[in-house]
Amino acid sequence: MSLDTVSLSGRKKEVVNNKMNFWESLYLIAIAKGLWITLGHLFTRKVTIKYPEQVRPVSPIYRGQHLLKRDEQGRENCTACGLCALSCPAEAITMKAAERKPGEEHLYREEKYAEIYEINMLRCIFCGLCEEACPKDAIYLTLSKKFVKAASDREDFIYGKDRLVMPLEMAIANTKTN
Ligand code: SF4
Ligand code: SF4
Repeated sequence: MSLDTVSLSGRKKEVVNNKMNFWESLYLIAIAKGLWITLGHLFTRKVTIKYPEQVRPVSPIYRGQHLLKRDEQGRENCTACGLCALSCPAEAITMKAAERKPGEEHLYREEKYAEIYEINMLRCIFCGLCEEACPKDAIYLTLSKKFVKAASDREDFIYGKDRLVMPLEMAIANTKTN
């Protein structure tokens, strides 16, 4: 058996380029078949939705965009220990720590906080290991229920604290429900 005739999948088909007869060369039957298929799809259930006007419900454990959590007093939980960055297999997290100054106790829970905290969403694989590693209950992927939005500029995928820290209203609402 020559190598040309071997089919590993067993689904190999020889394509034969038969000459078309008169009726086939008018393409009327082919067009009618195509229209019939299109017509059939008009009456089947749609599998697409009009995103972003419509959003699909996600699972309660869906890992979406990260959220840096605040405590019940609205203070940032993160103490910039760096464990999340160390545990990240994609090396997507970077941060810069700073000392809390007198008068900033209402902003940061610990004496040290993340002055800069960035996640490169192009690197992130949403594995959740940063959440698992955090000893301060500070980073969650399951709380925001947000998708990371598409963008055309790579810089737009570097999420800083402006997009990661939990909105104050959400922290207050969480306190009321707990
Ligand atoms: S979810 Fe995984 S990949 Fe993404 S930042 Fe956290 S540890 Fe890194
Ligand atoms: S999110 Fe958690 S693990 Fe990461 S630096 Fe802040 S406190 Fe440490």
